[in-house]
Amino acid sequence: MSLSRRGFISSALAASVSPKFCHLEIDQAFAAEEKGHSPTPAKTPIVISAGNGYNYLDEAYELLRAGGDTLDSVLKVVTGPENDPNDQSVGLGGRPNEEGVVELDACCMHGPTRSAGAVGGVRNIKNVSLLANVVRQHTGHVMLVGEGAERFAVAEGFRRENLLTEAGRKEWLLWKETHSDWWGPGLSSPSWRSRLGARRQSEDWSERLRRIEEAAVNLGISPELRSSAIRSVIFPPTGTIHCSALNTNGELSGCTTTSGLAWKIPGRVGDSPLIGAGCYTDQDIGSAGATGSGEENIKVSGAHTIIENLRHGLSPLEAAMDALKRIVRNYSADRDRLKYVDMVYYVLRKDGAYAGVSLWEGYGSAREKPHQIAVHDGRKRLEKTVSLFPGPSHDWPPIFSP
Ligand code: ASP
Repeated sequence: MSLSRRGFISSALAASVSPKFCHLEIDQAFAAEEKGHSPTPAKTPIVISAGNGYNYLDEAYELLRAGGDTLDSVLKVVTGPENDPNDQSVGLGGRPNEEGVVELDACCMHGPTRSAGAVGGVRNIKNVSLLANVVRQHTGHVMLVGEGAERFAVAEGFRRENLLTEAGRKEWLLWKETHSDWWGPGLSSPSWRSRLGARRQSEDWSERLRRIEEAAVNLGISPELRSSAIRSVIFPPTGTIHCSALNTNGELSGCTTTSGLAWKIPGRVGDSPLIGAGCYTDQDIGSAGATGSGEENIKVSGAHTIIENLRHGLSPLEAAMDALKRIVRNYSADRDRLKYVDMVYYVLRKDGAYAGVSLWEGYGSAREKPHQIAVHDGRKRLEKTVSLFPGPSHDWPPIFSP
């Protein structure tokens, strides 16, 4: 049955004045609920981040103390690693895709204006966090990707530059010359074990390691960088920074930026630039972000799930644990697979309560390097995250251990 334009307008009007759907009632209901568990405002500003933001927290905290905007404060933190060519997890010096091209992802949310910006798969522009913020401020869109995002960046005054450092290029060549790729079944595939079987049968790993080392020498990778380069080739690392901030007016913002996953298939986008997965900020509730296995986090919309959990009264720790349990559920609690998943959540509630929560205590063989959350609320510190499972995650792909 077709509805005339006039009929449509009058029925829409009727709905809008129907007492059942009165706006006032809905607003009152929300206000009452807010009052019910609205946390008291924070007495001091607070900024939290992934551990790699630690060195940049002072300036961000001072900005908050001086009454600065929470997103400006957050951007001060995340642009630190973006500008650092020696930080291989984000921005300049980030690890490239399988074609040797650095592709960056970022998103941000500004609580006070309830606005968001995001960019994915961006080449040649190092500060994608700032670019996401410009998308937020200067477009009617929320997300731009790839070539369009790069052209937009240049139009907005960002400088194109080569993001692949010499050290990154050599590491990529080492991977290219000696190693595998991302094609084939992933961890969530029913045939994931075929990865393990194929490698076990066909490879003599001590011989293979010897060859990789020889290639590293030939490529001129310096002895002090050699073992970490070999490790990155065998177990493609991820790396990201998330930061959230709260000021004493109760204003919140958050940002996540990354170069994603080393040697990824060009065009692969992880969770970091996805509003609701890598980052989510709700001015009424809190701000949350993620680092780790992006594919797993996308499937549970981690950051948004956490904020919704806070909204329903869970504490920051409980809210993030619940998101982790959803990842566990996706693998039917099969630890044989979950041990390859690395996930960390950073949660900041509107009253300044916070939590750093991880699936495992640390990653890979970095038992001695636990996951950490960096915090500054007048005292800057690194705190170990609370983990759902004991011990470290294992490196993917499964090569040396079954
Ligand atoms: N989550 C990021 C991604 O999947 C990587 C990371 O956080 O380490 O792109």
